[in-house]
This record gives sequence, structure tokens and C-alpha cells, in this order.
Amino acid sequence: MTLELEGVSHRYGDELAVSDVSFGAEPGELVGLLGPSGCGKTTLVQAIAGHVRPTAGRILLRGDDVTDTPPERRHVSVVFQRPTLYPHMTVSENVAYGLAARGMDREERDARTRDYLDLVDLEEQCDSYPTELSGGQQRRVELARALAPQPDVLLLDEPLSGLDPTLRERLRDEIARIQRETGVTTLFVTHDQEDAMALADRLVVMNDGRVAGSGHPRRLYDSPPTPFVASFLGRSNTLSGTVVNQDPLTVAFGDAELSLDGTNLRRSEGETVLCHVRPKDLSFAPAETNGASVSVTGEVKRIVDLGRRYDVTLETRTGDEVVVEEPARPPSRDESVSVSVPGDCVTVFDGEQSDSSRLS
Ligand code: ATP
Repeated sequence: MTLELEGVSHRYGDELAVSDVSFGAEPGELVGLLGPSGCGKTTLVQAIAGHVRPTAGRILLRGDDVTDTPPERRHVSVVFQRPTLYPHMTVSENVAYGLAARGMDREERDARTRDYLDLVDLEEQCDSYPTELSGGQQRRVELARALAPQPDVLLLDEPLSGLDPTLRERLRDEIARIQRETGVTTLFVTHDQEDAMALADRLVVMNDGRVAGSGHPRRLYDSPPTPFVASFLGRSNTLSGTVVNQDPLTVAFGDAELSLDGTNLRRSEGETVLCHVRPKDLSFAPAETNGASVSVTGEVKRIVDLGRRYDVTLETRTGDEVVVEEPARPPSRDESVSVSVPGDCVTVFDGEQSDSSRLS
């Protein structure tokens, strides 16, 4: 492993910002660290970079314990959320600055600077000042500056924040290309699940200072390990149901019953379970009669026209609020409707909604 975190915790005074976090990154891997604001992502970045000494746990780089190693001896580069280019230096000078601090001679420094400005496609702007560049170009200079020392690990802390959606998508593609070309082991920190899904080879999802789930992005999305991951990684509806049969597990939503074949779960009859299903998997089509799906009825409360689809919110007879993504023609407000819930798109958690209690 290039990077390993072992049971890292950090307190700011009485506040536990990060609690017992462990994960790693293989050589050349792009790991996405995803979570809502305040969940401890930046604290972890600071700890890996050496700007924060964790109150517990270890950080290893290429197998060496660097928990107490100062930042300048870690071979880690960081691109921070806010731009940090020196305004009085040209693009080239900004990139070369860190190389000079490492004692590289002028000729090698100039060649390295040219190579990395070429990599981010900014060789023509080498004599410009940061204020003469667009926001996206400034981020690319920051990337070149972070990569030029050829670090063991590149930390990207929300590098796309503050950019408009088109530029954001373009820069995201650029980051993917540059990471592939350089093969640098990268930790990409974001609160945006779309950026994380698009970029990461592997995702670590955090909530409230802890790891709520980790794994391959698509597998985490399709098979979330906790209710938090189900709702944070994409949108998710929660339908509360009652177990009416153990084998096969059959759950009733009001008077509609759904048999969840293919799950090994054993829950007692009468137990409450939470069934997560994504808005895109629901439809206003009638449920199949072979028991593979179930119809849940409710009343339409809200319709939002998003251009390429409608988001239709309804309240079910059992009091759950459910969103259906409808591409064509939505029903009318206050209309009573039936929504088909396919059993194979349902993930079941226990009724406590504990974040570590995935049942299927
Ligand atoms: P954001 O996405 O908003 O940057 P984050 O996930 O990066 O959030 P952190 O910045 O690591 O989260 O903060 C984690 C918790 O630690 C928050 O509750 C925050 O208020 C607290 N915190 C962060 N830095 C400090 C500090 N220097 N002193 C005291 N508390 C802090």
C-alpha cells in the first residue's frame, strides 16, 4: 500500500472530529473520500499531509510510519479548496517554487516545470500571472505545482468547488486524465457524490467522523452497506415495512406484500424493517403479478419539473414520503396513484436505522 491510515482519530478540544478511521490506497489508485460538510474530511487530509497530528492512530506512507514526520519530509502534495497561487509570481515561477525549495538545480527545475505545464496544457501561459487566468486554469496550475515534485501521494481537497457546472465537469475529466497519465496515488476529497462516482477507483464514505462504508463505487451504490450510504450516495427513499413471513422474507407495506427472494435474512414476524429504493427504480406502471414487485399507493403531494424528468413526491398510505423520477408525463397533484416497487431494487435495513446494520 502507498498510503495507510490505521485507527486514526482526532479531537479539537472536546470535539471528536475523526473517530477510528482506517483505509488505504494502493499504488496508482484514485480513492474518493466522500462525505457531508463537517464529517472530518479536511482533518484527515491535514493529518496525512502532516499539518495535524492525530490524537490517536497511525499514518503510513510506503509502509513507513510517518505519523510524527514533518510535512516537508512526507512526499505528499495537497491541492486545497481555496486557491493558493502566489499572485506576484508567474505561472512558471509558481510551479518551480516548490522544486527550488527541494534543492533542485535550475536546469532540471525549468525542464520539470515545462513538463508539468505541458501535462496540464498550460505551456503557453507560463509567463502569465494567476490573475490573468480563468478559475479553471488556476486550478490546473495548482495541479501542476502539486505534481511537479512527483509526490508519493496527491491529496485533492474539494478541487472542483466554486466552479460552474460545465467547467467542473471539464476539470473533472482533466483530473482523471492527468491521474491516469502520471499514475500518482491520489486521495480525492469531495462532498459531491457525482464527482466521487465519476472519478474514484474506490470510495470511502464518511459520516460524523467515521467510515460509513467503503468499496467499489458501483457496488456501494447498488448495494449500500448502511442507510447513510444508501441516502448519501445517490438519492434514496425509505419505506417502512413489517415482516410478515421469514422464509422467504416477506415485507408488508400497508396491505401490499413484497417477497424479497434472494436475501438470506432472517427477521422475525412483526419486526419493522426499512426498505431503501432509489427514485429511478420506481414507476407508475402496474406491479407485476408474479410477486417480483409490489404496488404501493399514495397521494401526489409535489411535482418538480426538471426538464429532462419530473420529480414526483407522494405520501403513501402508511405515511412515508416517496420520490419517483418520472421521465414522461407525471400524474396530477392530489391524484391517488400506485407505484410499482421492484423487489430486486430494494435494500433492507433493520428498523433501528442504525448506520452499521445492513441486512441485505
Ligand atoms: P467541509 O467539507 O465543510 O470542509 P469536512 O468534512 O472537511 O468539512 P472538517 O473540516 O475536517 O470536516 O471538520 C470536522 C469537524 O471538526 C467539524 O465539526 C469542524 O467544525 C471541526 N473542526 C475542524 N477544524 C477545527 C479546528 N481547527 N478547531 C476546532 N474544530 C475544528
